[in-house]
Amino acid sequence: MKKQPLVLIKYGGNALLYESLKQAVVNNINKLRQGGYRVVLVHGGGPFIKNMLALVKIESEFIDGHRKTTPEALKYIEMALKGEVNGSLVNLLNHEGIRAVGLSGKDGRMVLAQKRYHLKEVDGKTEKFDLGQVGDVVSVDTKLLDSLIQQDFLPVITCIASDEAGNDYNVNADMFAGALAGALAADHYLVLTDVDGLLRNIDDPRSLIAELSTKEVSELMGKVIKGGMIPKLESCQIALEKGAKTARIINGTKPDSIHDAVISDQITGTKICL
Ligand code: ADP
Ligand code: MG
Repeated sequence: MKKQPLVLIKYGGNALLYESLKQAVVNNINKLRQGGYRVVLVHGGGPFIKNMLALVKIESEFIDGHRKTTPEALKYIEMALKGEVNGSLVNLLNHEGIRAVGLSGKDGRMVLAQKRYHLKEVDGKTEKFDLGQVGDVVSVDTKLLDSLIQQDFLPVITCIASDEAGNDYNVNADMFAGALAGALAADHYLVLTDVDGLLRNIDDPRSLIAELSTKEVSELMGKVIKGGMIPKLESCQIALEKGAKTARIINGTKPDSIHDAVISDQITGTKICL
């Protein structure tokens, strides 16, 4: 039997906020599966985390725009990601007749994380700032995912992982997805966002960069690539370096771009090449 290509989709942010959009993404995932593709979904959920922390009146300290995450806050972040966002995605997929399985990086020791420090130049010296329970991916064990995918389950994974000592961390969802796409050697890594792709000029939607190399990514980092686009492009770099075959940033608010990017191989979004 021909090996079925694997598509890893990173989903999150604004495209998660509207039920109709979520349904459209799920319909596209269904189309992929009917077209013979296997799918893995990875998600974050910034807006849901924000709402949850507001609800329980936890105020966050920010260091250079990075949220410092206390163990108390992480407990609620995990509730929002697993209980709310993951649970609802699994529900929608199941309703389509797909067997979805909700997971985090902790399940089956899938993702090993380590604490991340924010590095900052202070008076010419690099200082380390503690961000609390914020982590980076150290390694990925795909054993659980391999067996689920082989049995035709669709893993839906959120970006919480533990270190060797059992401490939990919130990992940036883009970086988490990129590490998984690499470890699974995904044939297609799709990063969904709320714009058409990387724009050379953020105020000009016609300035879309259709294709760039990982080397060009490094050159444009901090100049053209800013804010939320930084971890997306870094995650594509990591995915490709670790074994993903292709990586693209596409507009998740136009869910048919999933179909266009994979099945009809149209030029859509920003394609990153090694
Ligand atoms: P998501 O919820 O999908 O992770 P983010 O808000 O984190 O979305 O990241 C996407 C955002 O990155 C865009 O909406 C845009 O505001 C910002 N961005 C920064 N630089 C660029 C750029 N060069 N091209 C496009 N978007 C950019
Ligand atoms: Mg983001």
